[in-house]
Amino acid sequence: MSNTQNIVILGGSFAGLSVAHYFLKHILPTLPKNNGTSYHVYLIDSSTHYYWRIAAPRALVGKDMIQQDKMFLPIADGFKQYDPSIFTFIQATATSMDTNARTVTIEHASNSESQSLPYHALVIATGTRTPSPLLSLQGDYKITQNALQEMWGKLSSAKTIVIAGGGPAGVETAGEIGEALNGVAGFFQSRPANPKAKITLLSGSNKLLPMLRPALAKQAEVYLNRVGVDVVHNAKMQSVDSAGAQTLIHLDNGSTLEADIYIPATGVKPNSAFVPANLKTDKGYVKTNGKTLRVDEAGPRVYAAGDVGSYTRGGVMDIYDAIPVVLTNIKRDLQHAATSGASSPSSNNNEKQPELAGNAPGSDRTYKANLKETQLVPVGRSKGVGAVFGWKLPTLMVYMIKGRNYMIDNAVTLQRGTKWEKENGWKPTDA
Ligand SMILES: Cc1cc2nc3c(=O)[nH]c(=O)nc-3n(C[C@H](O)[C@H](O)[C@H](O)COP(=O)(O)OP(=O)(O)OC[C@H]3O[C@@H](n4cnc5c(N)ncnc54)[C@H](O)[C@@H]3O)c2cc1C
Repeated sequence: MSNTQNIVILGGSFAGLSVAHYFLKHILPTLPKNNGTSYHVYLIDSSTHYYWRIAAPRALVGKDMIQQDKMFLPIADGFKQYDPSIFTFIQATATSMDTNARTVTIEHASNSESQSLPYHALVIATGTRTPSPLLSLQGDYKITQNALQEMWGKLSSAKTIVIAGGGPAGVETAGEIGEALNGVAGFFQSRPANPKAKITLLSGSNKLLPMLRPALAKQAEVYLNRVGVDVVHNAKMQSVDSAGAQTLIHLDNGSTLEADIYIPATGVKPNSAFVPANLKTDKGYVKTNGKTLRVDEAGPRVYAAGDVGSYTRGGVMDIYDAIPVVLTNIKRDLQHAATSGASSPSSNNNEKQPELAGNAPGSDRTYKANLKETQLVPVGRSKGVGAVFGWKLPTLMVYMIKGRNYMIDNAVTLQRGTKWEKENGWKPTDA
């Protein structure tokens, strides 16, 4: 009798794509196929394309700044290399999950129909969203593409621009817009000679770039001034109104700014509306065991990967460190389940079956967060500030690593999984 076990991955971006490829390449082939057991990976995302949002600050200033066909990559195309009997991509949004029945409910984008999808193992990798669709996906990628197009049109005539948020997304966005509209200050000058637009960046605190040391934050501000951006500290956007074509930005210090364009870059919120409240922190992140990356309170074989998990400060480096840990623990748990007879409802059979096995006994692979000062922030097209593992990088290095093209050529390595061609091996003795 055939018994198909579903491995369900929610979210097909940096984390979800990594989990799916790593699983298909390195984990699935090692699993025992006792009594006709087989595995099928379902990758679910609200969008057909994944978005290299790292390059959003430059992409939003003009159509040709970053190649569009490298920014938005079709998820399904990256998985053509696998047998369709083991993998399915579904464009759908997870709307709820039931940890007792071990199912997730997804709403298909094609017809808005709901489907209850049973899981034997579940990885939650639904990431975070920014207030603006320019900087992250908010459903299908076309919403973001349309927002970018609208921005290109507006920037051509804008005279006043306000960007809220002193983190890397705000600084990068302000720097890119500043250089595109105002150019760069000449030698021995601190500001461009003929700025076309008044650009204001609201830092929200007393310094830019909270993850970097004050000297680097100050240097970023100098570079912003060189492209005609004014930084206003200690003022936060409280509310916005529209007044005709203008936006009124009311600040918490009682003043109001007027702008032709307002871009909120004020931090992210986790995409976790579908996750039961008991599995979330008070900020909405999925409560994740910081060592094993399991979601302990969700029952066996449920994991979180990427920015939606409570284990991380966010960022791609953390994801790359987490993937081998999550996948090693999935492998151990699935091998244990296969040899101790656990089963979950199969894709062909919606009846719940008894859950026999918990997580694998013995040593888990464990995650260790890198909390050292690590961040690269281009400011305009040739300058930038940054540090890696606590070491300050010169502006030229920031340009070469990130500022040149926002590492756009790496997008395809996640889409096709070439980033994970080799398994990052581990033995229990490494624990
Ligand atoms: C402007 C900007 C610049 C950045 N630059 C850098 C950088 O230079 N370096 C760095 O390390 N990090 C950077 N980051 C952070 C980096 O982008 C994130 O760490 C990374 O995107 C997290 O990946 P993820 O897979 O966890 O989630 P996300 O990339 O947030 O993706 C989540 C995916 O889940 C899907 N999804 C959401 N909800 C559902 C649902 N209910 N059902 C189905 N699918 C769903 C979404 O469509 C999306 O595809 C930047 C972030 C921003 C916003």
